[in-house]
Amino acid sequence: MDACYDLIVIGGGSGGVATARRAAEYGARVALIERERLGGTCVNLGCVPKKIMWYASETASSLEHAAEFGFSVAPHAFDWTTLKTRRDAFVARLNEIHSTNLERSGIDLYRGHGRLVGGNAVAVGEQQLRGTNILLAPGARPRRPQIRGAEHGIDSDGFFQLEQLPRRVAVVGAGYIALELAGVLHHLGADTTLVVRHDGPLRTFDPLLREALLEALAVSGPRLQTGFTSAACEPDPSGNGLCLVSANKERLSGFDTVIWAIGRDPATDDLGLARAGVDCRPDGTIPVDAYQTTSVPHIFAVGDAISPDHQLTPVAIAAGRRLADRLFGGADKRHLEYRDIPTVVFSHPPLGTVGLTEPEAVAHYGADAVRCYQTRFAPMRYALAPAEHKIRSAMKLVTVGAEEKIVGIHLCGDGADEMLQGFAVALRMGATKRDFDETVAIHPTSAEELVTLR
Ligand code: FAD
Ligand code: NDP
Repeated sequence: MDACYDLIVIGGGSGGVATARRAAEYGARVALIERERLGGTCVNLGCVPKKIMWYASETASSLEHAAEFGFSVAPHAFDWTTLKTRRDAFVARLNEIHSTNLERSGIDLYRGHGRLVGGNAVAVGEQQLRGTNILLAPGARPRRPQIRGAEHGIDSDGFFQLEQLPRRVAVVGAGYIALELAGVLHHLGADTTLVVRHDGPLRTFDPLLREALLEALAVSGPRLQTGFTSAACEPDPSGNGLCLVSANKERLSGFDTVIWAIGRDPATDDLGLARAGVDCRPDGTIPVDAYQTTSVPHIFAVGDAISPDHQLTPVAIAAGRRLADRLFGGADKRHLEYRDIPTVVFSHPPLGTVGLTEPEAVAHYGADAVRCYQTRFAPMRYALAPAEHKIRSAMKLVTVGAEEKIVGIHLCGDGADEMLQGFAVALRMGATKRDFDETVAIHPTSAEELVTLR
C-alpha cells in the first residue's frame, strides 16, 4: 500500500527542508524526497562554500594591507587543497546535521528522484507515496550558453570541484555569481578576467553602486572586459589554453579555466508537471499565486523554481515556512510579500541593497517626489593605505514624499554585508529620513554615515 502523508516535499534544499520541518512542528506527517545531498544548492554548491571562499579571499586582502599597520608579513604561501579539504569537510558536517534534524523532526526521508504521477501521488524510484499536499522545491541549476565549445567551460558547480587554483581564468557573466567568483579567484591570486556583454556588471543595481563597484574593480579587482558577447569557446590554435571568441570575432585567449555564470534554470524538466496538470512557463519556472499555490490547488511551489527573481535562500525559507504556517498552523492568510527583500553581493567590497533604486523610485513616484541622499568616502580601514589602494565606499538613501519615507537603501563598501540587515528592518517599518537623523551615530564606523547624510 502507498505510504500516505499530510505533506510530500520534493527537494531537500533551503525551501524544502524549512517547509518540511515547520510542517512537522505542527504535527503534520511529512515525507521529504532528495536525490542528491541534503541542504541543496545553498549548503553544497552555493552560499555556504562560497562564503568560506569569500572569507579566504578577504583574508588574502587583509594580508596585503597588514604592512600598513606595522606588520612585517613574509611572502605567504596559500594552499588551495587545504582550503578545499577543510571547506568540504564543513559542508559534509552540515549534510549530517540536516539529516539528524529531519530525523528528530520525525520526517521520513526518501532518497531518489521524485516525480508527480497525477492526483495526489508522487513516485520515488519504485515507491509510490500519496500526499494530501505536495510541495515542489526542486531549485535551479547553472545555465550553460548555447554556443560552440561551451563544454570547455565549467559553471559554479564546477568551481567548487576545482582541485587547484586556476592560473588564468575567465569568468563570463554579469550577475551575483560572476562577481563573487571572479573576486574570490582574483584575491586568492589567479589572473582573472570578468567578461561582460554590456558596460559593466549588475545592470539592475542602483547607478551609484555600479559606479562604486567599477571604481573598486579598477583599484583592486579582476580585469574587466566589457562589451564582449561570447560566441564560441575553443582551444587556442597556438596551444595557449582556452580562447573566447566574440560575435564579431574578437578573441580573448590564454585561459586555463573558463567559468560560465550567466544565470540559473529551474530544475523542473523531469518533475511530471504535465502529468499532474501543473502549469509551467516556457522558461521552466512554475507560476504560483500569492500563497505559493500552483495551478493545481493541493500542489505548491517555493524557491528558485518559481521565478528568476529573488533566487535567495532566505526567500525560499520564508515562503516555505509561511506556507506551512498556513496549511498546518491555522494562519489562514499567511504568505510572503515579495518586496523590500534585502540582498548582498559578496564582492570585494560587498554590495548591499534593499527596496527601490533611484531610477525605479522615479519611475514609480515621479521625479518630483523622490529625493536621494548619498555619499562617497574612504573607510578608516584604509586610513594608513596609500591613496591608490583606498577603496571608496558608497551609500545612498532613496526617499519619497514630503515626509521623506525611505524606500531604498544602497551600500557598497567594507561591512555593507553585515550593515544592511538592521537598516532593512527600519525600511520595512516605514522609517523616514528624520528617523535616521534622530538616531545617534556609532563612531567610528562606516554605518554612521547612513544616519548623518545631508
Ligand atoms: P535548492 O537549495 O537548490 O534545493 C533544491 C533541492 O532539490 C536540491 O537538493 C536538488 O537536488 C533537489 N531536487 C531537485 N529535483 C528533485 C527531484 N525531482 N527529486 C528529488 N530531489 C530533487 N543565496 C543567498 O541567499 N545568499 C548567498 O550568498 C547565495 N550564494 C549563492 C552562491 C551560488 C554559487 C549559488 C549557485 C547560489 C547562491 N545563492 C545564495 C542562492 C541559493 O543557493 C538559492 O536561492 C537556494 O538554495 C534556493 O533554495 P531552493 O530550496 O529553491 O533550491
Ligand atoms: P544573475 O541572474 O544574477 O546574472 C546573470 C547575468 O549574466 C545576467 O543578468 C546577464 O547580464 C549575464 N548573462 C546572461 N546571459 C549571458 C550570456 N549568454 N553571456 C554573457 N552574460 C550573460 O545570475 P547568476 O548566475 O549570477 O546567479 C543566479 C542567482 O543566484 C542570482 O540572481 C541570485 O538570486 C542568486 N545568487 C545569490 C547570491 C547572493 O545572495 N550573494 C550569490 C550567488 C547567486 P547582462 O544582461 O548585463 O549581460
